[in-house]
Parts: sequence; C-alpha cells; structure tokens
Amino acid sequence: MHATALKCNRCGWTGGLDITYTCPRCGYSLEVTYSYDSVDRRRVSKALENGGSVWAYSELLPLKDTDNAISMEEGNTPLIKSRTIGVKAGVRLYLKDETRNPTLSFKDRPNTVGISVAGEMGYRDVAIASTGNGAASLSAYSARGVLSCHVFVPRSTPVGKVAQALYHGSEIIYSDGDYSESFHYALKKCMENNWANITSTYINPYTMEGDKTLAYEIFSQLNFNVPDWIVVPLGAGPMLSGIWKGFNELRLLGFCDRLPRMIGVQAEGCAPIIDAFEKGSNRVSAWEKCDTVAGAIADPLKGYEDDGTRTLNSIRASGGYGVKVSDDLIMDTVKELAVKEAIFAEPASASSVSAVYKLKDKGVIKNNECVVSIITAHGLKDTDELINHLKK
Ligand SMILES: *Cc1c(COP(=O)(O)O)cnc(C)c1O
Ligand SMILES: [Zn+2]
Repeated sequence: MHATALKCNRCGWTGGLDITYTCPRCGYSLEVTYSYDSVDRRRVSKALENGGSVWAYSELLPLKDTDNAISMEEGNTPLIKSRTIGVKAGVRLYLKDETRNPTLSFKDRPNTVGISVAGEMGYRDVAIASTGNGAASLSAYSARGVLSCHVFVPRSTPVGKVAQALYHGSEIIYSDGDYSESFHYALKKCMENNWANITSTYINPYTMEGDKTLAYEIFSQLNFNVPDWIVVPLGAGPMLSGIWKGFNELRLLGFCDRLPRMIGVQAEGCAPIIDAFEKGSNRVSAWEKCDTVAGAIADPLKGYEDDGTRTLNSIRASGGYGVKVSDDLIMDTVKELAVKEAIFAEPASASSVSAVYKLKDKGVIKNNECVVSIITAHGLKDTDELINHLKK
C-alpha cells in the first residue's frame, strides 16, 4: 500500500491511517496522502489500458491487503456517447452511466473503499447517514462483507431505497427532519457505539478515494484524453472533489498534462454551495429548508458547512463553475434522457445534463467542447416521484 497518512485539507496537520473524522487541530476534514514515487506506474497503466474497475486501481487506494476488499465488481461503468442531447446542445457529450453499478448508484465506489478499510481495521459495525442511495449501497456491501449496518435516513426517503437497505439486513433509523438531522444522529450513535462512520460527506477520509476512480475510468474510456468539463450533481460534494483528485494524480504520475474543469450542480430548492459560488464568497453557509424533486442531493449542510467550502475550493481550483437548475428543467431532462438516450435516471442524476443546457446557453461551455455528465443513480429507486410527475 502506498497510502501514507491522513492530512488536514485546511491546516496541513498529518496523522496515522486510522479512523479519524476531523482534524484534531482545526476541526476541518481530512484526506489520504500517498507516496506517489513508490506507486507502480505500470500497474496503473495496465488498468487504464484494460479498462479496470475500482479495485484494479489498488495501487492508488488505501487498503493494506487487497484480499480484504469487500467488492462486487463495482465501477467500470460505460461512458456512453450521447446520440441526441449533445447534438442539440452543441457539445461532444458523454454520459458516465453509474446506474450500472451493483446497487444502481455511484455510491458503490465510495462505499466499497470505506467499508473495506473499516473491515481491515477490525470494525464489525458500520453506519451511514444518507438520502437513500448511500444507505442502499452500504447495506449491500455489509451483507457481502458480513458486517452489521445501521442506516440513518430522513423519513421522506423513497421507499425503493429503503427497501434495498431493509432486504440486505440493515437497521433503519429514521429522522423526521432533513438530511442534516440524520447526519448528526449518525455521528452521535457512531461515537457512542464505536461504529465506523461511512457517511457520504467528507467525514470519512477513505470514501473519496473510491470516488476518484471515476476520473481514471473517464480518462481510460476517452482513450487517454482529458475532457474539457466534468459535470457533477452535488450533495456535500466528495464525488466532485474525488474526481478532481483523481485527475490530479493522473497528471502527477505523468499520464496526462492537463486537467478538466469541474462543474458542480445543485437544485434551485437546495443550493448552498452554488449560492456561495455565485456570490463570489469564500465560505459556504447552510441552507434553511430544502425543497426539490432531486432528493438525493438535498443536503442543507447544517453544522458541517466546511464540507461545502471544500467542494467550492475544488471547483475554483479547477477553473470550474457552479450552477443551479430548476425542478422543471430537471424533470424535463429525466424524460429526455429516457426517451432520447435510453437511460432511466433519477432526478438528482439528470441534473448533470440539465446543467449542460444552461451553461451552454450562458456561454460558459463553448461549442463542440468535450463534456462528461455523471449519471449518478437509477430511476427505478424513486418511481413514486417519477410517476406522479407524468400524471401532471
Ligand atoms: C449522493 C448522491 C449525489 C451526490 O454525491 P456527493 O458525493 O454526496 O456530493 C448525487 N447524485 C445521487 C443520485 C446521489 O445519490
Ligand atoms: Zn486542520
């Protein structure tokens, strides 16, 4: 293993590779550092050439022994060239179809890494606060790894996602409020019971390492080319920061000499990070009340606003952009993706395509640029919302 330490993303404090959730010096979130000089470049190169899945990139993942990986062949999802939407928008559009993961969302990437590390460290119980997809995913990986799983979700979570978690054998703990309430409840229970917290904010420093494999796959699938833009729906945003980290590593290892610009997308009804971007602010503030069809990305960030700031920093470092999209545009895009591209995505996932239209109209994305939109999760997990919308 070439991972060397946990490092504070703000003040630079470093510490050992154990389960530490926040910087003991300044309270900010942490990240995994590597000794890139000792990484076997040929093994990475082979994975890039062969189209490897998440664990094919174990050279760049923080697990001591890959035999400890709790895996279900996640990742290696198709990068589909858009047939219609790209032409209509006037860009070279690719859709990274994360609905093809084992539990039908990209959350299998952060979770396979987070739970494998927890298992290797001897934890028998894992927990997650989730808007649904993360809970469904971690539940399946807990079944696979024979660990006990506790999921904290808002009561408004779609029944399809709760059913997945229930059938894989998890304990479900509801909160009556929003996602932030589940976040704080999970944090408390993890501390009391010594459960590994695999919540998909930046709280667990290992999960983002799974997200970054999206960068390796996109680079491999574009025949070792870097797209101009990558469009990512944002909760707290570790997926966006993970993809950004992955491309920086590819450059550091000498595989590419340029980087993509990162676009973060939120719904108009819950957009704390985009608000800060638009105001030119250096800090993200919490959102009071989230109201959007894109439930999977409805994270008001109450009490962990710094996570939003970290995402904002990644967007700015990349020379990227932040955009919010309306529920109407999102639902139109869900339909368009299904009819024109044959991809059935949930609303939060379609927002990464809605954003392309908006930013092309604005002149941010230029004619014929290469754009990759991440289609984060499958529409089948939230059919009530989608059927209700069709009736309108
Ligand atoms: C979790 C989730 C996101 C947001 O990812 P983060 O890394 O938490 O910002 C986007 N889309 C879907 C469908 C999700 O489940
Ligand atoms: Zn610090």
